[in-house]
Amino acid sequence: MEPSGTIVVGGGIVGLAIAHALAHRGQRVTVVEGKQIGERAAAGVAAGMLAPSSEADLTDPRLTHLALASHEAYPAWTATLERESGVETGYDATGTLLVALHRDHLALIEHLEAFQRERGLHAERLTGRQAREEEPYLAPGIAGALRMPDAQVDPRHLLRALTVALERAGAVLLEGTQVTAVAPGVDGGYAVATEREGVASTLHATQVVVAAGAWSRQIASPIAGLPLLPLPLRPVKGQILRLRGERLVRHVVRTPDVYIVPRADGELVVGASMEEQGFDERPTAGGVYDLLREARRVLPGIAELELTECGVGFRPALRDHLPAIGNVDGAGLFVASGHFRNGVELAPITAWLLADLMCDGRLDALLEPFSPGRFIAKDVAR
Ligand SMILES: Cc1cc2nc3c(=O)[nH]c(=O)nc-3n(C[C@H](O)[C@H](O)[C@H](O)COP(=O)(O)OP(=O)(O)OC[C@H]3O[C@@H](n4cnc5c(N)ncnc54)[C@H](O)[C@@H]3O)c2cc1C
Repeated sequence: MEPSGTIVVGGGIVGLAIAHALAHRGQRVTVVEGKQIGERAAAGVAAGMLAPSSEADLTDPRLTHLALASHEAYPAWTATLERESGVETGYDATGTLLVALHRDHLALIEHLEAFQRERGLHAERLTGRQAREEEPYLAPGIAGALRMPDAQVDPRHLLRALTVALERAGAVLLEGTQVTAVAPGVDGGYAVATEREGVASTLHATQVVVAAGAWSRQIASPIAGLPLLPLPLRPVKGQILRLRGERLVRHVVRTPDVYIVPRADGELVVGASMEEQGFDERPTAGGVYDLLREARRVLPGIAELELTECGVGFRPALRDHLPAIGNVDGAGLFVASGHFRNGVELAPITAWLLADLMCDGRLDALLEPFSPGRFIAKDVAR
């Protein structure tokens, strides 16, 4: 069959954002998602912090540059999505308070400030008293805080907004359809083998983007027994809680051990564990206990809230903890995966820069450090 259009494998935040950027450039796009949108995607549980400042000390400077570009793009991106879909995304730029509960935390804050200065990031030091004036429900006796201009979004709303915007733009969304293999097509382009309720079929496309998160390695190549993308990808399990009740804080509140993200509708998200447990989907008593203990230390009032959800998600992580975004085979096969702890934050910039590359052949300098070529030998797929 004559191939046409682009297939995006994976309807997580990264795949949907790419499909949306391609649709905006007039491309015919089909998103193939193995489950329902949001059912298995990490963004279905993620906190949605857009936090280039708060995590500057944990982040490769090249990734901070990409994150800052994405951060800048966010207000316009979410406004466009809200206009196109009629769905509120929960974008909120109130900011983040990194709270020091004791002197050791203050030392960590000083360490972070040094990285922020180096990268030209702005933050404001507050005394414990000033922090409690900002957020009266913080625990008494805190040692100090750092206020940062980070933002947040509700990733569940964002997935919904992207889905509706894509449908209205005429993109095709195939949910419950697992991609099993990708191979060069007989008439050019690619043959994408799928399975839906036990029924196998093949789709054809000129270009394919693999954005299947931590599962991207499981798609087969034409060479029996080998994955399409030999990326050193692994899932990093995250347990995260949702509580509901009186709105206790306006800012995102963090300590070095926990974060608390308030939503406008009264939900409070408390996260998150980082566990090397493969695809273990079970929330555990220890994981929940640790999160609640640390959250209660900084915000005692959470003990009164209703615990409504213990979620588990899988961050797609590469060996160097940087994403892989770009071309794979010198032709029409692309990947966007490995966004680890930052996929919500990086979604718009990933989508725009990859769409530039796919549509115009233009590789932005911001993307260069994230080439999948650092892991993939030439001629993998062809
Ligand atoms: C607890 C937790 C908290 C987080 N908090 C934040 C945060 O505050 N800020 C932030 O920026 N990031 C955060 N993240 C990270 C962020 O959620 C991820 O980086 C991001 O969601 C990854 O998106 P993705 O689309 O690449 O992959 P995924 O979300 O994994 O989506 C991949 C999709 O592909 C589908 N799929 C897989 N295989 C196939 C196949 N063969 N065929 C068809 N479909 C397939 C899956 O079903 C899934 O829907 C958090 C993650 C976790 C787990």
